Amino acid sequence: MKRCSHLSEIKRVVPHTTGCKECMKIGDTWVHLRLCMECGHVGCCDSSKNRHATKHFHATKHPIMRSIEPGETWGWCYIDQLQLNFE
Ligand SMILES: [Zn+2]
Ligand SMILES: [Zn+2]
Ligand SMILES: [Zn+2]
Repeated sequence: MKRCSHLSEIKRVVPHTTGCKECMKIGDTWVHLRLCMECGHVGCCDSSKNRHATKHFHATKHPIMRSIEPGETWGWCYIDQLQLNFE
């Protein structure tokens, strides 16, 4: 089974914003929120039309995000394409 080799890059991040940073700036809406585990950037998910979490990965190469929706503990490594658990 494939394992994520980026777990050491996870930091004790605090979300920078209460919503998607870029969407709030342009006054747009989002569906779900994702937290970058390297820098604390909050971006919107791939079901949102702007997909800022994925854009953040492409811009910064920060590999790991997690869901910050209430009750959700899953995360995702963009590089390994692997689901992670932050329970
Ligand atoms: Zn990884
Ligand atoms: Zn967004
Ligand atoms: Zn980041």
